[in-house]
Order: sequence, then C-alpha cells, then structure tokens
Amino acid sequence: MSFTSLGLAPSLLRAIDNQGYINPYPIQQEAIPAILQGKDVLGIAKTGSGKTASYVLPILMNSMGKNVSKNRHIVVLVLVPTRELAQQLEGVFKEFGSELPKRINSMAVYGGVSKNPQMKALQGVNILVATPGRLLELVGANAVHLSQIDTLVLDEADKMLNLGFKDEMNQIFNLLPSKRQNLLFSATLSKDVINVHQLLLKNPLIVKIEEDDTSIDLINQVAYFVAEEKRGPLLRYLIKSKVMKQVLVFTSSVYKADNVVDKLKKNGISALAIHSKRSQNARTTALDKFKKGKIVVLVATDLLSRGIDIEFLPYVINYELPRSPKDYIHRIGRTGRAHAQGEAISFITPEDKNHFRVIQKKMGKWVTMIDSEALNL
Ligand code: AMP
Repeated sequence: MSFTSLGLAPSLLRAIDNQGYINPYPIQQEAIPAILQGKDVLGIAKTGSGKTASYVLPILMNSMGKNVSKNRHIVVLVLVPTRELAQQLEGVFKEFGSELPKRINSMAVYGGVSKNPQMKALQGVNILVATPGRLLELVGANAVHLSQIDTLVLDEADKMLNLGFKDEMNQIFNLLPSKRQNLLFSATLSKDVINVHQLLLKNPLIVKIEEDDTSIDLINQVAYFVAEEKRGPLLRYLIKSKVMKQVLVFTSSVYKADNVVDKLKKNGISALAIHSKRSQNARTTALDKFKKGKIVVLVATDLLSRGIDIEFLPYVINYELPRSPKDYIHRIGRTGRAHAQGEAISFITPEDKNHFRVIQKKMGKWVTMIDSEALNL
C-alpha cells in the first residue's frame, strides 16, 4: 500500500516524500483513513511504530478546510507527558505542514520556561501541543480557550492517565466540549487506558499493532552481569570496545545521572545529563547536542524514556534497571526505531537478577546474559 491511497492531499504527500517515507506503516494504514472520517481511534502501538505520523497527517488534512482560530480558541489539542515530547511533536507538525497551501499554525507549550512569550504567541494558533500543567496555567491566564476544541489527542496515553496527571487531566476534560474527536495513543494498554477508553472514546476504531510487527525484534538485547561498583568501568569498557559514537544511558535517579556524567567526563568521554533538576534550557541543549552527534553519551532518567525519537540511535544502556517492566520497554524502544537495528544493553547486579527475570517474563523474551567477570575492565 502507498501513501497516495490513504486520501491525503498532494501537499501532505509532498511533505511525506520530503521525509523520505516510502510506504505507510501498519498503524498509519489503519488510523489515517479513520481519523480523516472523523472517527475516534485508540491506537495501541509500541514506540517506533510510526504512531506520530498516523495522527499528525490526518489532523493537518482535517484542519485544511477550517478557518484560522479566533480569540485564542484552539481547535486541536495534543496532550503529552513531557516537555521534550512537546517540542518534538511541534517539529513534526511543522515538517508535515511545510508544503500546505495555507499555513496552519501549530505551537507547543510546556513548563520550565517563561510563560509570557507563550501567552503572546498563542494568538491565531489552531493546533496546540501541551503538557497539562502549563496548559492549565495558560487557561487560567485567559491566554487560551478550550471550549471550541474539535479534536483531542492523548499521546503516551497510559502516562497521561495515571495518577501523576489525574487532577490536571480531570480539570482539562471539564473544559472541553463534549462533542469532539478523541484520539488516544499508547504503547501499553494499562488499566487506566481501558477505563478512560469507556469515558472518552465513542465507538472507536481500535488499532492494535502486535508486538511481532514492531521494532522490539529489531532491538538486539544483551545483559551484562556485573558487580554494582563495576558498572562505571563496564560502561567505559563497552563505549570503547564497541566504538560507540552515540549512546543513551538510563539511570534511575538524578543523583546517579550526574554522577555517571562526571565519571565519563573525567575519563575523556563527552557526556551530558537530562533530568528533572536541570533547567529546560540545559535539557533542550543536551538533547540537541546528542541528536547532532556532538556528544557521545546522554545520561537520562525515565523522563526521556517516553516517545523521544532519536534517528538511528544505535545504543541504549540501562545502567540501572527501571522498576517497571513497562519503562524497560519504553527505554529500549529509543533504539531500533523506524526499522533500524539497535542494541539495548542492561547492567544486572546480583540484586537485580530476580527483577530482571520478571521484566523478561513480562516482555516475553529472554535476553542473553554475559558475565562481565570475564572481561578485562
Ligand atoms: P514514532 O513511532 O511516531 O515515534 O515514529 C518512529 C520513527 O519512524 C520516526 O523517526 C519517524 O520519522 C519514522 N517513520 C514513521 N513513519 C514512517 C514511514 N511510513 N516510513 C519511514 N519512516 C517512518
């Protein structure tokens, strides 16, 4: 199947071509026609499946016939859990919208940066990508109104609907008109997603992309059994012996992330950290430098495990294992994206052994374990 048969306008097909996409991925084949028809969609698809384009393209198409929004009434709202994902999505809307005959204004708002420029820029915006907290602040300041929204998207829906965002999401739902198109995308189908599915979606098309179809099989997973205090030397050994040029390292705490960066730098390996205690500017710069290949290692907490797309990222390392098996899937999903090969390496200390067994069981896949004792660290 080709993109031309999906009912998209020539200007969007040109933008797709500019991106170098040849054929639509399965989720795009199913979701695009349904969204164009105004249907609600619940998309269950793992990271790297192409879910972003599956809603961005039909939303742009549906927006083409609409008037520019007036008096700060936005028409499409996309809610995301992290600032980085908001920025990334704004970029995707801009890229796919670049060939449209009439400009459709899209914008991202998120916390951690000054509110005033966002308040000013919100005039005439049709499509808004937002994190919940900042959106509510802007609504409170009358900088944006939600009562004329006709399309709501929850990306990373399982995260948006869990306890951490519950109050904010309820406040937002109360501000939306009841008649609207709802699009939910989630890599994992948690209880929260099932509950809200009843609340939010009217007769939805449910698109479930089976695990076998997606990127997890493109990820070569390896685990190294290692003593806790040997993780630093093992990390440096792997970076050097595998001649890694770009590797995303996950830690479980802010403290550990900074600590790993310090040690790498002391050993002459360029590294930066992204976590909740760093300023938004520092986070944006670090991600940008990493994407452009200006630093070798980006060390991150789970803040970055959701949705972030780094083209052809070859390596992900779990320096510390995440507690939740879902986070493990999200983390390793940063590599092996867009049908490219990737390697995910996990460090397993004696205390992690049982927990890693649980993760593998949940994932339905057993990972080769190498004992690092045998390596010359
Ligand atoms: P996503 O799951 O939306 O984060 O997309 C994962 C990656 O796949 C991104 O780098 C996209 O640019 C890429 N991608 C999405 N759809 C296609 C397609 N039809 N052909 C090639 N690459 C794609």
